[in-house]
Amino acid sequence: MAKIKGLRCRECGRPYPAKPLHVCEFCFGPLEVDYDYASLEKVVNRKRIEAGPPTMWRYRDLLPIEQEVPVGEHCGMTPLIRARHLEKALGAQEVYIKNDAVCHPSLSFKDRVVSVAVTKAMEFGFDVVSCASTGNLANSVAAHAAEAGLKSFIFVPAGLEQGKIVGTLIYSPILVEVDGNYDEVNRLCSEIADKYGWAFVNINIRPYYAEGSKTFGYEIAEQLGWHAPRHIIVPSAGGSLVTKIWKGLKEFCQLGLIPECHTRMHVAQAAGCNPIVAAIRNGCDTIRPVRPDTICKSLAIGNPADGYYAFKAVEESTGYAADASDEEIVDGMKLLAETEGIFTETAGGVTVAAAKRLIDTGVIPRDESIVLSITGNGLKTQEVVFNALRPTVSVKPSLKSFDEAIAERPDLEADFISQAPTNIQG
Ligand SMILES: *Cc1c(COP(=O)(O)O)cnc(C)c1O
Ligand SMILES: [Zn+2]
Repeated sequence: MAKIKGLRCRECGRPYPAKPLHVCEFCFGPLEVDYDYASLEKVVNRKRIEAGPPTMWRYRDLLPIEQEVPVGEHCGMTPLIRARHLEKALGAQEVYIKNDAVCHPSLSFKDRVVSVAVTKAMEFGFDVVSCASTGNLANSVAAHAAEAGLKSFIFVPAGLEQGKIVGTLIYSPILVEVDGNYDEVNRLCSEIADKYGWAFVNINIRPYYAEGSKTFGYEIAEQLGWHAPRHIIVPSAGGSLVTKIWKGLKEFCQLGLIPECHTRMHVAQAAGCNPIVAAIRNGCDTIRPVRPDTICKSLAIGNPADGYYAFKAVEESTGYAADASDEEIVDGMKLLAETEGIFTETAGGVTVAAAKRLIDTGVIPRDESIVLSITGNGLKTQEVVFNALRPTVSVKPSLKSFDEAIAERPDLEADFISQAPTNIQG
C-alpha cells in the first residue's frame, strides 16, 4: 500500500515528491507529508495497532517510513502515569504524566522524531546526519546515527549543560559548539545544509522528522483507553511538538480510533523565552522573535520555526498558554520529583509550573482530565537544581557522629526523627 502521496505545501497546497525537501518554492511555506487517508481508513484500526510492538512503531502506518526495521526500533510507548500526589498538590482531580523522561534511547521525546528522521535519511541514501540542537536533539541524533552506522555532525550553541554535551559526545559524533544562540546556530546550519548536502534532521528532513511527534499524542489517547484527554500541556521550543500532537489526535478521530477530539492544547514556555506564549496571550498570530534568557536551554528558541502553527493549534483547540520564571521552573522540577518520583529536566519544570498557573487561574477547570507532557530527563540538567536541594549529611562511620550530625540539623529533627514510631527500640 502506498500510504504516502508525497509532500504538500501547508500554505498553498502544491504537491511535491517525497524527497528531502522542506520549503515550497512558490510561497516558502513549509512542506508536510501527505498521506492517503482514504486507503489508511481501510486498514488502520485499534486491533491492528494493539497487535503491534510496544513501541511508537505500532503506529507505523501513520509514519512516513517504508524500511521494514526502522532505526530506533525500541523508541516510544513510554508510561502514562496517573499522578495522584501531584493532583493534590495542584488542586486538580485527574492529572496524568506522559513520561518521555524515560524514552529510549536518549531519554527525551526527541528520540521519536529522530528515529523517523534517521530512518528516512537512510532510505534517501544519506551517510551523514546532522542537526541544529538545544541539547536533546543532539543526544538523540548522535545516538541514532551510531545505531545506524552513519556519521553525524551536530551543532549546538556554546554553554549547554554538561549532561547534554557528554550525552552527545559519548557516541563520537563531530560536535560543533557555535558561539551564538540557537537561532544563530540554526541559520548557520541552513547554509551548511545547502552547501554540504547532509541530512539535517530538523532542516531538510524536517517534514518527516516532525511526524514522529504525532506518536506522543497517539500514545496518550491509546493509553487512556482510546480517548483523548480534555487538556494537554506541552513545553514548546520550535513549536513542532504541540502542533503534531494536535495533528495526531485529529488523525485518530478521522480514522475512527477515538470517538472525539475535544482536547484543548496548552503551550508552556520559559518566561525568558516565550515568543509563542506571548503571541497566544496577545491573540495575534505574528510571532515576535525574542533573545532567550532562561535556565531552560532545551526550550530556548527565540524564533520558533513552527510558532505560527503552534498558535493555530492552540487557537483551533481553544487552549491557552503559560510561562514560568527560572525560580518556578526549579520549583516545578522539585514538585514533580517530590510528589511522583520523576526527575525531569528544566522543560518538565516549565510544564509543571504552567499546569499550576493554568489551574490556579481557572483556565483549566479542576475537575477535567489533564496530561502533562514530560519531555526530558533531569539527569541532563543537574546544574540548575543542585543548589536548591537539601544539603547532604556528612558523618564518620560511628553512631556518635551520626547522632551529633542529626542534632545539628533541626530540619531533620522535624521531618524524620520526632515522627519515627516509638516502639521500634527493642
Ligand atoms: C525540543 C524539546 C521540546 C520542544 O519541542 P518543539 O517541537 O521544538 O516545540 C520540549 N521538551 C524538550 C525536553 C525538548 O528537548
Ligand atoms: Zn506553497
